[in-house]
Amino acid sequence: MSNRKVATHAVRQGLESDSQFGAVVPPIYLSTNYIFDDYRDPPQYDYGRGGNPTRNAVADAINKLEGGAGAVMTSSGLASITLVVSLLKSDDLLVIPHDCYGGSYRLFTNLANKGHFKLAVVDQTNEQQLRAVFKDRPAMVWLETPSNPLLRIVDIGAICQQAKAVDAKVVVDNTFLSPFGQQPLQLGADIVIHSTTKYINGHSDVIGGVAIANTEQLAEELSWWANTLGLTGSPFDGYLTLRGLRTLGPRIRQHTENAQILVETLVNHPAVTKVYYPGLEDHPQHQLAKRQQNNFGAMISFELIGGEDEVATLVGNLNEFCLAESLGGVESLVCVPATMTHRAMAPEARLEAGVKDTLIRLSVGIEDSQDLTADLTHALDKVLETNK
Ligand code: PLP
Repeated sequence: MSNRKVATHAVRQGLESDSQFGAVVPPIYLSTNYIFDDYRDPPQYDYGRGGNPTRNAVADAINKLEGGAGAVMTSSGLASITLVVSLLKSDDLLVIPHDCYGGSYRLFTNLANKGHFKLAVVDQTNEQQLRAVFKDRPAMVWLETPSNPLLRIVDIGAICQQAKAVDAKVVVDNTFLSPFGQQPLQLGADIVIHSTTKYINGHSDVIGGVAIANTEQLAEELSWWANTLGLTGSPFDGYLTLRGLRTLGPRIRQHTENAQILVETLVNHPAVTKVYYPGLEDHPQHQLAKRQQNNFGAMISFELIGGEDEVATLVGNLNEFCLAESLGGVESLVCVPATMTHRAMAPEARLEAGVKDTLIRLSVGIEDSQDLTADLTHALDKVLETNK
């Protein structure tokens, strides 16, 4: 689906669906239970854990934007990940990237340690490592592209082809780009998950997730497990997420426009030794990102000169960026992955993934770009003074 269509569908999904009063915006349904007309014949909705009209409205909207066959809204992004890996059996091999979100990494490694499935951690940008792991006939391959926090990109279509040859399912965590930036099901993936906490809700006030499947059968399986495991999200959260989703198009346009401007500032500043951003020509997967994505996203990572003192100077001098985890909200954020988002990873695993202590990650918001640039430049100038 084109970005034009994604923006329009995001606004229009579920509008004018209220048959009782003709409300433009769909009402919120909070009831936990529903009337049976006949005790032998359950209604469409019977109990709120299994189904709720407000939750389903969000799932349907995101499903449409991703071009899926059905979706489930969960109580968090990690609940969606838990839901998807619950499809695996103890002998199944799950392949994950070595540089995924720290919370996902913690979940995968700890479930594997308890024998829920077997695990292979690989650098998915390394073709040799990928070829070798496919020889072990994995049941599921997990992709996070762009990856968190180093923004590595993997070729979704190529990996799907390799996976199909061994009958493995491919799951893509599309949190960093949203369906406005990339639609992995169209490239051959079986399941897409989002932490809707991020760009989809976009206002940093709801924790949520969604899992979208490419077939009705898989969507039903996910829905069955979501009810069975009790992973589904709350109607209030669903209502707010649908509200946030409506502005996805204009928000992402502003996020990405601001990011391009800030990347220029970073590349040209002597306090920065390396910038990770798929839009830069020297990014190792720049051509792939151009081909696979509709935009380069609004997450930027970079390495600072010096060490801990310089990191402290930078974060202490930024006024327009909140020092906080998470991403994808309207407000700009700065984070130090090693001690914040990725502290759940063992130091060796972090270093192996390339997450150094001086790595800084920005989630670029939708404020005025001149204000952001001035603030970032001022803080980087202070870093230079500290480094003298
Ligand atoms: N996937 C990615 C890429 C993330 O960055 C996060 C959270 O930061 C998650 C999944 C987990 O989502 P949640 O925090 O909504 O559980």
